[in-house]
Amino acid sequence: MTTPGPLVLLIEDESPMRRILRAALTANGYRLVETATAAEGLTQARAYNPDLVLLDLGLPDRPGLDVIRELRTWSAAPIVVISASGQEQAKIDALDGGADDYLTKPFGTGELLARLRVALRHAERASGEPEAVLSIGPLRLDFASRVVTDGDREIHLTPIEYKLFATLARNVGKVMTHRQLLREVWGPSHVGETQYLRVYMAQLRHKLERDPARPRHLVTEPGVGYRLRTES
Ligand code: CA
Repeated sequence: MTTPGPLVLLIEDESPMRRILRAALTANGYRLVETATAAEGLTQARAYNPDLVLLDLGLPDRPGLDVIRELRTWSAAPIVVISASGQEQAKIDALDGGADDYLTKPFGTGELLARLRVALRHAERASGEPEAVLSIGPLRLDFASRVVTDGDREIHLTPIEYKLFATLARNVGKVMTHRQLLREVWGPSHVGETQYLRVYMAQLRHKLERDPARPRHLVTEPGVGYRLRTES
């Protein structure tokens, strides 16, 4: 007996795009509910309580951001937004508004499926017991003792470096905006200080990456923020 795949609610007004997504998702075991407007999307979200929402930001009736805000008042289901390239601010607003990740058109099926897997895994993790240890290759972060090791070697992190790394680690795989990271690590009055992030990310990469100039794990999302990637 096979268990049914995750249920995805797709809110997208362009039918060619819906067709592509439908083919990719159903071929990979996902179940799908499709809608073309924000209003219908919100209605279907209530009706189906999907495992994940795949949301186009440019909808005919209401901005996608409205959908995110409304969904977040009652649903913790991961939201992955689809945006056109050049909509950096829209992506940032979507992530700050509670979306989990974004895909920029055009994107490949492999990338789509990887992002959905990460978002679903993250949601599962968030609903269960917090993990005690995160392993990324030879790197190990023990949340209880706040110790980071690389193989047998302990890596000394300053309190701020640790806080930044731990914040990314608790959200592993997920893109974090500059604003979200600044709020978590430095506090709400520092959300504009993106230069802090640049400085501390450089330090972290220097301590944790094999080649700090070509980071495999502490990855920049251009114009948006950073992501801790476990796979390389
Ligand atoms: Ca659209």
